[in-house]
Amino acid sequence: MKLLDMLEESLADIDAHGLRRRRRTIDGPSGAHATVDGREMIGFANNDYLGLAAHPVLVDALAEGARRYGAGAAGSHLLGGHSRAHAQAEDDLAAFCGGFVDNARALCFSTGYMANLAVLTALAGRGATIFSDALNHASLIDGARLSRADTVVYAHADAEALDAMLAACRSSVKVIVTDTVFSMDGDIAPLRALLDIAERHGAWLVIDDAHGFGVLGDDGSGAASAYRLRSEHLVYVGTLGKAAGVAGAFVVGHPTVIEWLVQRARTYIFTTASPPAVAHAVSASVRLIGGDEGRARRAQLAQHIARTREILRSTSYKPIDSHTAVQSLIIGSNEETLAVAAALDEAGLWVPAIRPPTVPAGTSRLRISLSAAHTQHDLERLAAAFETLTEQFR
Ligand code: PMP
Repeated sequence: MKLLDMLEESLADIDAHGLRRRRRTIDGPSGAHATVDGREMIGFANNDYLGLAAHPVLVDALAEGARRYGAGAAGSHLLGGHSRAHAQAEDDLAAFCGGFVDNARALCFSTGYMANLAVLTALAGRGATIFSDALNHASLIDGARLSRADTVVYAHADAEALDAMLAACRSSVKVIVTDTVFSMDGDIAPLRALLDIAERHGAWLVIDDAHGFGVLGDDGSGAASAYRLRSEHLVYVGTLGKAAGVAGAFVVGHPTVIEWLVQRARTYIFTTASPPAVAHAVSASVRLIGGDEGRARRAQLAQHIARTREILRSTSYKPIDSHTAVQSLIIGSNEETLAVAAALDEAGLWVPAIRPPTVPAGTSRLRISLSAAHTQHDLERLAAAFETLTEQFR
């Protein structure tokens, strides 16, 4: 068979299983309200949890950063690309999120995906063992694979099972890794129990706070402070393209951990630094998140979460118990999930259908991402659409 025909056949198979993904094109900013493929819609598909992605302060900071530093970094961090803006953003992020360890340092990455690859490959190598939650994000799974360490997957959020696995492990280097807020279910890992286990067994605990940074904690500084974690063995990964409204990611940890990443993390060393203007906007975002405006936006988001929980409970489908901005409704089959998403779409609501391989087969779902920029009226539109749907589908 010809190479292209093989691909065509595989694509046809994806279609046959209702798994074809398609991109939608947004004109103007993506947020709670967006023009999607030319239509005005209420967006529940992105991760702009605080509604900061198009905030004028961040847009101005990005423009000012570009004027000051130019459009691109022009080099990797170790070879000419590390700007004052990156250094400042790292200081700001370490001060904001590093309360869990003395003298915390931060390191900026171009994406969360790369930060996760960096941490796992730098901390764990051949002979090490990585303990990974069954529902961890793809970038953590890939980081574990790339590290060549043995990887043990523990049942989702099952601290007891993890404890037993660590007790039986003879590796000298052990790394526990988990999402904080799980990206598809919105529930939160048992972080205090995981840290306790890590400390008892002499393991690192790596937490991916992609969906917690900016949202969790009184000041939005994320899961480590919200759960009062404190340890020099904790490695915190935050991303900057979701609640922070910008792009990129960062790792915070003990200064020795950060120095080790600078020396060894290939996704830090062998890539062009992200534009300094982005780092300049990140510093502005950290100020917004930690200030009064961030607090007010988190309060608004909390109200939306409470109302959405009510709405989802009144449908005939199964909501996942979540107190975060990620609210999922399990529908089951790919076909029905797509049909429900299409009906919501008709009503002007963009709610993505999440299907395998992102989630296990048979658990296809709608994933509703809430934003402080939604209005109460938006949520009532969602409630009304679900009411009509329940009559239509059941
Ligand atoms: N971790 C988690 C839990 C995520 O949801 C994501 C983004 N979907 C990432 C890491 C990757 O972050 P980025 O988009 O910055 O690459």
